[in-house]
Amino acid sequence: MTGSQETRITILDAMTANQIAAGEVVERPASVVKELVENSLDAAARHITVEIEGGGLQLIRVRDDGRGIEPEDAPLAFARHATSKIRRAADLARITTLGFRGEALASIAAVARVEMATRPPGRPGGTLVRVAGGKPPEVTETGCPPGTSVTVKDLFYNTPARRQYLKKPSTEARAIVATVERLALGHPGVAFSLSLDGRRSLATPGNGDLQAVLAALYGLEIGRELLPFNGSGAGWSLHGFTSPPWLHRSNRDQQVLLINGRYITNRLLTWAIESCYRNVIPAGRHPLFVLHLAVDPGEVDVNVHPAKLEVRLQREQDLARQVTNLVKGALFTPRAVAPATISR
Ligand code: ADP
Ligand code: MG
Repeated sequence: MTGSQETRITILDAMTANQIAAGEVVERPASVVKELVENSLDAAARHITVEIEGGGLQLIRVRDDGRGIEPEDAPLAFARHATSKIRRAADLARITTLGFRGEALASIAAVARVEMATRPPGRPGGTLVRVAGGKPPEVTETGCPPGTSVTVKDLFYNTPARRQYLKKPSTEARAIVATVERLALGHPGVAFSLSLDGRRSLATPGNGDLQAVLAALYGLEIGRELLPFNGSGAGWSLHGFTSPPWLHRSNRDQQVLLINGRYITNRLLTWAIESCYRNVIPAGRHPLFVLHLAVDPGEVDVNVHPAKLEVRLQREQDLARQVTNLVKGALFTPRAVAPATISR
C-alpha cells in the first residue's frame, strides 16, 4: 500500500463491527436457530417452537414461554456485548448458561431483518422491537403471550458473499433439523417442535425422559433398542444411550455429546465410545450415541470458540476412560444380543 490515506487507523462503526462478528457467529441459518433456541433455554422455557421457511433464508421464528424481557431492556438485547448472563470477567470461570457473549442478537440483526415480541409472565403487555440495516431498534408496545418470540427474515440479504456461499435450502433445512435434534437431546425436560415450510418435522414430549426424546427423534424402534449407561464419581456424572452391535451408520450425524446440556464436539470422547465398537461393527461404520456429561462448571472453559462448539475440559483423559468403561458395560451385557439371535 502506498500513500498515507490507506494506512490511517480508524475504529469501525458499530454496523461494520457487528457484520464482522456475525461472520463468526452466524455461519448459516442453523447457527441462527442454535443461538435463538439457546436464548430460550437460558430463559427457562418449557416449550420451544421453531418455524422455518425456505431453509431458514426466508424466515426463522423461535417462540418460547420463558422469562421474557422487561420493556426497558428489550432494545438493549440487540446491542453488542449486552447480556444479562455475566457481569464481569471473573464470571467466565463458572458459566452456567448457554450464552454469555452478548453477541448473538446483535450479529443476527446485522445480517437480517429481525423482530422480537417479548413479555415477562408478570406483565400485562409486551414489547415489540424491530431491527434492520444497522438502524437503531424501533420499540413499541404490543399484545403478546408471555415469553419471547424472535422472527428473522431475509437472512444475509445485505451480505451477498455469505449468501452465495450457502447450500440449497433443503441442505440448510437438514442442518437446522440436526441442530434442533441436538438441542432437544440436551434438554429432555423441554418440549420442542420444529416445522419446515408449515410441515411438522419433529416434536419431543418434554417430560424429562431422554429415551422418549430419542424415540421421538429416531423412531420408536431405535428408541427401544438403544442401550442405557450411567455412572458417577467425584465431581462428575454421566448417562446416555448407545447403539447395540447391529445398529450402525455410515456417518457420525447421530453421535451427540453434551457437557452440562451444551452440545459439543470432542475427539477424545468420541473415540472413547467408538473404540468400544472395534471388531463389533464393520469397519467404516459408526455407532449412534447420546452422552450427557455433568461436571462442575468451573472445570469447563467454554470461551474458546465463537459458537462454543469446542470446549476445554479438565480431566478429559480420566473422563474418557470412564466413558469407555461404562459403554463397554452397556454393550457387552446380555441385553445387547440381537433379538433375532435369541429366537433362533
Ligand atoms: P447472550 O445470550 O450471550 O447473553 P444474546 O445476544 O443472545 O446474548 O442475547 C442478549 C440478551 O437478550 C440475553 O442476555 C437475554 O437477557 C436477552 N434474551 C435474548 N433472548 C431471550 C429470550 N428468548 N428470552 C429472554 N431473554 C432473552
Ligand atoms: Mg444468546
